[in-house]
Amino acid sequence: MTDAGPAQPGSWEQRWHPLREEWVIVAGHRQQRPWIGKTVAAAAAELPAYDPGCYLCPGNARVGGAVNARYATTFVFDNDHPCVGVDAPREVVVPPPPYRASPAVGVARVVCFSPRHDLTLAEMPPAAIAEVVDLWRGQTRELGARPEVRQVLCFENKGDVVGVSNPHPHGQIYATSFTWKTFETELGASERHQRDTGRGLMADIIRAEQQDGRRVLHEDEHVIAFVPYFARYAYEVYVVPKRRVAHVFELTDAEVAALAGALSAVTVRFDNLWRMSFPYVQVLHQAPTDGGDYRAFHFFIGFNPPLRQPTLLKYLAGPEIGGGNFVSDTGPEAKAAELRALAPVHYKRA
Ligand SMILES: [Zn+2]
Repeated sequence: MTDAGPAQPGSWEQRWHPLREEWVIVAGHRQQRPWIGKTVAAAAAELPAYDPGCYLCPGNARVGGAVNARYATTFVFDNDHPCVGVDAPREVVVPPPPYRASPAVGVARVVCFSPRHDLTLAEMPPAAIAEVVDLWRGQTRELGARPEVRQVLCFENKGDVVGVSNPHPHGQIYATSFTWKTFETELGASERHQRDTGRGLMADIIRAEQQDGRRVLHEDEHVIAFVPYFARYAYEVYVVPKRRVAHVFELTDAEVAALAGALSAVTVRFDNLWRMSFPYVQVLHQAPTDGGDYRAFHFFIGFNPPLRQPTLLKYLAGPEIGGGNFVSDTGPEAKAAELRALAPVHYKRA
């Protein structure tokens, strides 16, 4: 082993993903040198602070005629094109076994992070990011209290390569009548770990990351951010409150402020990596809200960036789609070292 990962050319290393309970394959022989050249991505056009054609900017009309508030911080509205909705049919056609079906009910909302069309989390001050976290707190509490809602999924898809064409900073919320597979898996793993060891699984992960230290990007009293040992994506990052809570709304104001600072530190480094707006899928990992016992679940935020290089996507192919396990072409230690070496100030302001 070296700092960069598996040392033997042609060697594969299996790393156990304790939250997903599956192997991640780190393919050392495919490892690339750290990116040191200039970006080959086309320079992004300068965006206006307000775009009269944007359906998310303050005061603008959306498809269907609703008009956005002239909001000053964050803004939330019901998705005009939801995949789950309160109007979903309550009766479904019963299929023959082994098939099953039931109505998918719930609420889909859009969350604008800022009135500014030209900003992203990376360019927003931590105090403004804290407003976003506070909105997640309120939305998870409000939607989670609905009798038909079993889980609230908050996420942000950012960038063309994950299918988002509107650059206005925004995320989405799905409050659903079912629970999501990823969090079911994490809950089961966390409960087993608690039962077997008497300790929290995420607490043990945090301790392991602190002891190694090479993959830690940011840490303060309340929050730690790191490229996990078992990262599936090259620049995958976890942002984790140190105190175990099952839902974002259980965080104190001090923890929200710390979380916002960590989200800023991570997203600034992402943008600085190739001096471009860095695409990712950001997900809040929360327990269900159906009144069950979820004390073993440890809330955190995961960033899944699809790029390995400025114009090179991590394609999901045979191993991932067919086999169900990720093959990582790069060592998490090397990728963390790249992010750690970057300035903590956004390149546009440096
Ligand atoms: Zn806009």
